[in-house]
Amino acid sequence: AKSAGKGRWRRYEASLHNQVIKRMQIRTDLDQAIADGAFLLNYQPIVDLGTGVTRGLEALVRWHHPTRGMIPPLEFIEVAEESGLIVPLGTWVMRNAIATAATWMALRPEDPPYVSVNVSVRQFRTPDFVERVLADLAEAGLPPRLLTVEITESLLLGDDEKVHADIGRLRQAGIRVSIDDFGTGYSSLSYLHRVPVDTLKLDKSFVDTISTSARQLDLVRGIIRLAQTLEIAVVAEGIETATDRALLIDARCGFGQGYLFARPMPRDEVDAWLSTDLP
Ligand code: C2E
Ligand code: CA
Ligand code: CA
Ligand code: CA
Repeated sequence: AKSAGKGRWRRYEASLHNQVIKRMQIRTDLDQAIADGAFLLNYQPIVDLGTGVTRGLEALVRWHHPTRGMIPPLEFIEVAEESGLIVPLGTWVMRNAIATAATWMALRPEDPPYVSVNVSVRQFRTPDFVERVLADLAEAGLPPRLLTVEITESLLLGDDEKVHADIGRLRQAGIRVSIDDFGTGYSSLSYLHRVPVDTLKLDKSFVDTISTSARQLDLVRGIIRLAQTLEIAVVAEGIETATDRALLIDARCGFGQGYLFARPMPRDEVDAWLSTDLP
């Protein structure tokens, strides 16, 4: 038994070693990737749950690696956060997403979709974050109401005056602010009173359980009711089944996103998508 334990330990050590090497490799490659312009954005529709009409699209970054092919964000966002590379990467994502959203205005002039952009804590905390976003909007000619900034609960934890003030400045300018992965973090609803936001994105882990757990469904109903009281819109993430959609509609959830409606798609497929999904 002892030697089996030792074997397990060795395997554990080896896999840890491999993970460290892999992360170091990702880190050097990331540096190069920013220089090479090896990133691209996919867009996933956010729909009105009742009608299925697209209201917005979330920008999701992809890394086209020279030898490893397409690398999903879960494999490099964290490394980029740790090394600080998330700042230039995030700046690129913001500019690019805003410029792309400006091209959607012509496709649906009366009712253009918004673009929703993920912003990491580190990126948000850079001194000129707000100025830069405003400059990007002005340059692209995108009205501020067509940009949503997705932040995570962890940004609000520190009770940082500057962060609160910057969220206020974004909203004052007409940009919408959304809390991403709502419910996975600290679930302290109290910050919603202190820091007003426009939207909550209910995490997929909730959506996945509502069809099998009455308790979870009650919890989700409660969150949606609270959001309604605070005039916060709710987007449910990761909807994969018609059953979940129906339960969410019944719970008065306004919006949804997930494979049931559409997968994230490259920019050139978005135009066709937008011209076909009107009611
Ligand atoms: P997220 O913000 O929660 O984005 C939603 C993720 O769920 C996306 O994964 C999307 O492809 C996936 N998804 C959407 N609908 C479904 C569904 O019905 N079923 C399943 N199983 N998955 C679904 P993706 O694109 O791999 O992104 C993963 C995470 O990486 C994102 O999670 C976000 O936290 C981060 N990320 C992506 N792009 C950026 C970016 O530009 N900046 C930053 N800071 N983070 C980003
Ligand atoms: Ca997101
Ligand atoms: Ca999310
Ligand atoms: Ca999520």
